[in-house]
Amino acid sequence: MMKIIVATGNKDKVKEIREILGDMEACVVTMKEAGISVGAVENGSTFLENAIMKAKVVAAEAAKDEAWKDAIVIADDSGLVIDALNGEPGIYSARYLGHDTSYRVKNADLISRLKGVPDQERGARFICAIAAVCPDGEILTTEGVMEGRIASEERGENGFGYDPIFYLPQFGLSAAELAPEEKNNISHRGSALRAMRDKFADGEKPGLYTEEDR
Ligand code: IMP
Repeated sequence: MMKIIVATGNKDKVKEIREILGDMEACVVTMKEAGISVGAVENGSTFLENAIMKAKVVAAEAAKDEAWKDAIVIADDSGLVIDALNGEPGIYSARYLGHDTSYRVKNADLISRLKGVPDQERGARFICAIAAVCPDGEILTTEGVMEGRIASEERGENGFGYDPIFYLPQFGLSAAELAPEEKNNISHRGSALRAMRDKFADGEKPGLYTEEDR
């Protein structure tokens, strides 16, 4: 069976990644479950660069371990891009106002920075880049986007991070008011991961499947 190590310590991301890849014939483990605890320096200038950095660091560790050297390592780098703030917080989404600052505070801050901005100028998008380092060293990448706009108040308890202020006009709901499977169906992470799953299934990396998976 295909083995996938998810190169993140973010429990919310792991939960969504597991849900989205749930129908794959694959053993999906976190880096912690694979006994890997390295951290990557995320100093790239794009989501994609950062995703590749994270995946490579963890793949180098996996390659040293007999049990995981045949695994694919996937990393997600994602964030919220707000038009009226010139793309902020962007690649700094996790670090915005400091890593340990609560999302209540981060969300309230963004709402206040957009005070008075009319609906049609509150456009924003979540972007997710996925990088997969294959056991032969080849790197596959995909990207997904979810368009919406910044609400003027937090709504909903589902999801994580900036979901309560991310309004989806087509649903009349925030991303945090969607059921998990509804969010996964339309989300940046869902699109990027499904595109990656299709790359595996289309046989771009046929060697990754064992005979019994076919
Ligand atoms: P990363 O770990 O550097 O990729 O940081 C991603 C950050 O972007 C998260 O910590 C959140 O702040 C934000 N983010 C990414 N995806 C989502 C999402 O689906 N919902 C809400 N916030 C998200």
